[in-house]
Amino acid sequence: MKEEEKVNVTEIFGENVFDDRTMQERLPKKTYQKLKQTIRDGKELDIETADVVAHEMKEWAIEKGATHYTHWFQPLTGATAEKHDSFITSPLPSGKALMSFSGKELIKGEPDASSFPSGGLRATFEARGYTAWDCTSPAFVREDACGATLVIPTAFCSYTGEALDQKTPLLRSMEAINEQSLRLLRLFGNTTAHKVTPSVGAEQEYFIIDRKNFLARKDLVYTGRTLIGAMPPKGQEMDDHYFGAIRERIGAFMHDVNIELWKLGVTAKTQHNEVAPAQHELAPIYEEVNVEVDHNQLIMETLKRVAYDHGLQCLLHEKPFDGVNGSGKHNNWSLVTDDGQNLLDPGKTPHENMQFLLVLCCILKAVDEHADLLRESAADVGNDSRLGANEAPPAIISVYLGDQLADVFDQLVSTGEATHSIGRKKMQTGVKTLPDFMKDATDRNRTSPFAFTGNKFEFRMVGSEDSIGEPNIVLNTIVAEAFSDACDVLEKADDFDTALHDLIHQLAADHQRIVFNGNGYSDEWVKEAELRGLPNITNMLDAIPALTTDKTVQMYERFHVFTKSELDSRAEIEYEIYAKKRNIEAKTMVDIIRKQVIPAVIKYTTVIADSITSVSSACPEADVSTQTALLTEVSAQLKNTRESLQSLEIDLERTGDFSDEKARAFYFRDTVLPDMKGLRTPVDKLEMLVDKEYWPMPSYGDMIFEV
Ligand code: ADP
Ligand code: MG
Repeated sequence: MKEEEKVNVTEIFGENVFDDRTMQERLPKKTYQKLKQTIRDGKELDIETADVVAHEMKEWAIEKGATHYTHWFQPLTGATAEKHDSFITSPLPSGKALMSFSGKELIKGEPDASSFPSGGLRATFEARGYTAWDCTSPAFVREDACGATLVIPTAFCSYTGEALDQKTPLLRSMEAINEQSLRLLRLFGNTTAHKVTPSVGAEQEYFIIDRKNFLARKDLVYTGRTLIGAMPPKGQEMDDHYFGAIRERIGAFMHDVNIELWKLGVTAKTQHNEVAPAQHELAPIYEEVNVEVDHNQLIMETLKRVAYDHGLQCLLHEKPFDGVNGSGKHNNWSLVTDDGQNLLDPGKTPHENMQFLLVLCCILKAVDEHADLLRESAADVGNDSRLGANEAPPAIISVYLGDQLADVFDQLVSTGEATHSIGRKKMQTGVKTLPDFMKDATDRNRTSPFAFTGNKFEFRMVGSEDSIGEPNIVLNTIVAEAFSDACDVLEKADDFDTALHDLIHQLAADHQRIVFNGNGYSDEWVKEAELRGLPNITNMLDAIPALTTDKTVQMYERFHVFTKSELDSRAEIEYEIYAKKRNIEAKTMVDIIRKQVIPAVIKYTTVIADSITSVSSACPEADVSTQTALLTEVSAQLKNTRESLQSLEIDLERTGDFSDEKARAFYFRDTVLPDMKGLRTPVDKLEMLVDKEYWPMPSYGDMIFEV
């Protein structure tokens, strides 16, 4: 490796972040302390302090080359949004421009909010929306084609204070889980913890293809997924891509992604090839949930941007290609105290760790009672093609505990008491030169949507393109509710130990149905889950009602995470998004098939017909039956294509008839989507019949094997 290519990670890590170290260096001591207090205790920041912070932040950013700043927020579009302002103020009489940035500009922004989804929230109010600085997630300087920009993470609310984004409710849910966790800790005699924060690590899956192939596929350009495409002779059946050696071109891309992320303070840690050809994964080290939500957005943005620089395209859609695995995002979640405890750490002898057992049983209750809501939090249009297809968790929520905890849990269910834990065993390989080591007490189960993995739960349903905001809002709040209910009982008890024993017994017995350690991909599980009364919600539209049930509304209002009108608006937005995305897909399909596929097939049929005529006239004895058979077959599929296309077009015309978003969404699911499937069949057959030179776009094989 050449000297200039060597990367000093410790030197570059966080260099573009206005982090604690930078703040300590640059801010006056008093200002630093006030800001820290705000971050730690949620105290309001006074404008004088904000002015000083803003000034120093600007000076620091300008040293890094920044010309603009932006409030960066996460409206309910799934992506992030930003509007850039330069630091320039009106020039002095001398004509020299001044650069300024005030405390007010730092803490409050007012983007024109009228075009962001509000689900009717703003219909009755003014269209104003505000962004407010989230000082718990550090500001940073981003370098891209725009130059360098100071990016300020913010929350986005309406004029009346209603949340229009992911971050506001997330911060509210963090307050809820903090408060209830502290109550629980106090019951167990802990007086040293003052803050409990969810820690999250999100593993991001993605596809990388050549950008010229991407641009040649209008379906990928407009919808993020392929709408047609025949399977290549080889798919993922050999498992030779999974964890395989990383190809040079991808390696160079990953290297640059890591450097960009490290500069932004994102701890990019693990990278590997995933199951499907052209599929990869990146995982950072876990951190506080609100920072992780921001960092996951940065990871997605960085993957896309760096791919572009390398002549590649990053596909984040949950199912870009039918027939090979889709992409998800594993959301690893635990609860960590500021005195260094992980509430989900069972220790060596979980059966003796009563606090852990209570926490575990509360989580089981939370997941069991709100399985529908948790499922909803992972619902997005793309995930409908992925969940339940034996490549990702089924659409049924259940919890995998692993051997050790399952055994402890069984004891709790039967007697309310656990007297022993299965210990860790020595791993023996039978090879003398390999060292023996201790195995984990639990194995893994990749088929489970919600799995205990040592000292955290891994929620595996989340879609690759989705924000991890929503699943974590749900997790934080449902667990806060279960903790709160438990504390209500235990705080009143005369005899704490007996009350604790009884409560654990009862929770374990009441919620044992949610525990499942078997194969989640099997048909038996679907039947078994039904017997247990567990919801099996197979698609997004059936998941949305969970947002507004009485049970959900009561819980969210109790913990001040969402109001009823905020929830109604979110449900409305989801129906709207569903209908819009399916509409784009359907229109794209019509476009591709009318303008590219049919003309190409007609050209090809003409070529065959011409060849029949010219061969026959040149040599009347020549057998042209192959050409004739091919022409017949292609023409038959062409006819099927035209007929299916017509059905789709007719049904698509009627989508304008609905005034209600929900009805429109259902119409897309139940009428338009089946039309699209029907149309795909003859087109994919045609792809296998038509000369590759005539087929108007790259094939699956071209896209996923030629990177
Ligand atoms: P696994 O092998 O179980 O998937 P990894 O060590 O690969 O675990 O971690 C997967 C993700 O989970 C990473 O982002 C990691 O930082 C995160 N993680 C590890 N421990 C915790 C924890 N206690 N809480 C939350 N996330 C965690
Ligand atoms: Mg994992």
